Amino acid sequence: MAPVLVLAEHERETGSVKKTTLELLTLARRLGEPVCVWFGSGAGDAAATLGEYGATAVYAADSDEMNDHPVVPIVDVLADLVASLAPAAVLVPSSADGKEAAGRLAVRIGSGVITDAVDIDEEGVATQSVFGGSTIVHSTVLTGTPIYTVRPNSVAPEPAAANCTVEQVSTALSDSAKKATVTERTVAKQGGRPELTEAAIVVSGGRGVGGPEGFAIIERLADSLGGAVGASRAATDAGWYPHQYQVGQTGKTVSPQLYVANGISGAIQHRAGMQTSKVVVVVNKDAEAPIFELADFGVVGDLHEVVPQLAEEIESRSS
Ligand SMILES: Cc1cc2nc3c(=O)[nH]c(=O)nc-3n(C[C@H](O)[C@H](O)[C@H](O)COP(=O)(O)OP(=O)(O)OC[C@H]3O[C@@H](n4cnc5c(N)ncnc54)[C@H](O)[C@@H]3O)c2cc1C
Repeated sequence: MAPVLVLAEHERETGSVKKTTLELLTLARRLGEPVCVWFGSGAGDAAATLGEYGATAVYAADSDEMNDHPVVPIVDVLADLVASLAPAAVLVPSSADGKEAAGRLAVRIGSGVITDAVDIDEEGVATQSVFGGSTIVHSTVLTGTPIYTVRPNSVAPEPAAANCTVEQVSTALSDSAKKATVTERTVAKQGGRPELTEAAIVVSGGRGVGGPEGFAIIERLADSLGGAVGASRAATDAGWYPHQYQVGQTGKTVSPQLYVANGISGAIQHRAGMQTSKVVVVVNKDAEAPIFELADFGVVGDLHEVVPQLAEEIESRSS
């Protein structure tokens, strides 16, 4: 079986493997034998987890020089491995860095690339959900080694144990890699909440929250449930909550066990980022709001009355 190269995503500080990597490994198994590329330290510790999801090898690229330059070192290593392993495909997370690396790699090796896939079948046919989820596109790469970027939370990770070996790679950096240097890294404050795209529970607020101060009750409900906070674009564009928490077509895609939408109307662009959530709870004062079409449970009411009561009840049960 031909190898399938998977760019592993992990927490830079802790080295813990991100769920997106397990999703990519699950898809990669449909196309061949998954092998991972790991940047930074921690590949040895991660090998067991990667093996649980079918990776038979992890290629560790861990040098100060590689860490000092953005994105292009990833392309240098992936191009090297494509040349030596002749993989059936390359799978990369649809993050900003992942998409840049995929595009650059496609140019470097003369291959086609498909971005933001939400599924890939055994024949390599990718599914993309476009125009806010209203149109589904199926496409294949016809030239070179197919490169796919895959949106987080598109598939459920499924374990399939394999023995994963660790190999060091020592690719010489290209001149273009050295044209930009990372001068400083600042870790974004998570405030103790889980990362939005990884969270099992997401509590979101929209324009109905009424202002930045209104997000205090959204955060309280999220904390009572141990969840992450999300926001609609109306809320982030208004500056009520940071853009990195925007859920939707132009924000993050989430697929939690529980999604609580508060004061969100349910525009198609918002749904595109949360419609695969397992259970959807809606709080909205307008019974006709389209978001109720997705709701498993809904409360028609003012969120400023409903959400604090909900948080209080959950807090009292968990104390
Ligand atoms: C190209 C493009 C990309 C986009 N990408 C995104 C995206 O990624 N994510 C995204 O979210 N949007 C996106 N949008 C914007 C999207 O079209 C909507 O405008 C946006 O989602 C609306 O946000 P909202 O539901 O918070 O606000 P509104 O549509 O104004 O809805 C507010 C809701 O709150 C309810 N409400 C008001 N007060 C209360 C109260 N006190 N208690 C309870 N309920 C209350 C109202 O009944 C209403 O249903 C995009 C738009 C475009 C054109």
